[in-house]
Amino acid sequence: MVSIDKFTLNEMARLLVALLKKEEFIHPNKIGHLQYFVNQKGEELDKEILHDLLKIAIENKKFHSEAFFRTIIVQILLYHKDFVLSDAAFTDQVMSIYTGKCPKCGHEHPTENLAYFGLICDKNLKDKLRSKVLNILSSKFDPDLYYIATIYELITYNSHLDYFINYIKPMPKMAGPSLLGAREEAHNYCLNQLIHIAYRFEINLGDIKFDKFKGCSDYYDWLLDMKNFDYKKFQAKWISEYPTKPYFDKMKEVRQIKESVQLALKERYNRLLAGYYFNNLI
Ligand SMILES: [Zn+2]
Repeated sequence: MVSIDKFTLNEMARLLVALLKKEEFIHPNKIGHLQYFVNQKGEELDKEILHDLLKIAIENKKFHSEAFFRTIIVQILLYHKDFVLSDAAFTDQVMSIYTGKCPKCGHEHPTENLAYFGLICDKNLKDKLRSKVLNILSSKFDPDLYYIATIYELITYNSHLDYFINYIKPMPKMAGPSLLGAREEAHNYCLNQLIHIAYRFEINLGDIKFDKFKGCSDYYDWLLDMKNFDYKKFQAKWISEYPTKPYFDKMKEVRQIKESVQLALKERYNRLLAGYYFNNLI
């Protein structure tokens, strides 16, 4: 991208915003370019411009690609931490677009965008979004909405934890030791999310309601009870399956994990595994 000073960049962006407000038809390719531009220059753009782009992303149905709306939010969170949205009418529009069938384009957009949006809203609007999200979850449970709203603390995990547990299907039990690699074994997307929430919010995985997930695979048995796991069945590569802080914090508490990974690295050095080990486990 051509290097231009911040003042000129914002002047040009203002002209672009004025044009976009008037322009009804925008080719999808252009939206991709605009998204790239926001991603690259979000730090230098004035927050008023990002605010205008956020409005365009909602008001013009051609922009209803979830990625564009979320791209702007990410840039605001990264570089404009003092940005707090307090526009109730705009929030109503956002809520109508991300709940059920969109009144502007007729499609159903991912409801978890409500939770991302909550990250840049003031307390009143957050309360409003929270009620909306809780209503959606109670009337038609949406696992992605529950996960994102919980992780970003718009709602508390216990509001719909049982809904989420009921929603997730346990995997068929595997006969004998797994011949699959960790990648294939760790494929239960929602169960991964549930375990992430449990680690993050210190939920007791020994509770009877998690029993239905036990005994299906060595990998999940390990995640569900690291302390009492039979480490003869442990595979060092499991530590790199879901490399997030709550996971590593749990692993750090268990001596056998460190020892097993050390041993695996001695037998066969692996740069990726070594990186995770040295950066997160010791
Ligand atoms: Zn739409």
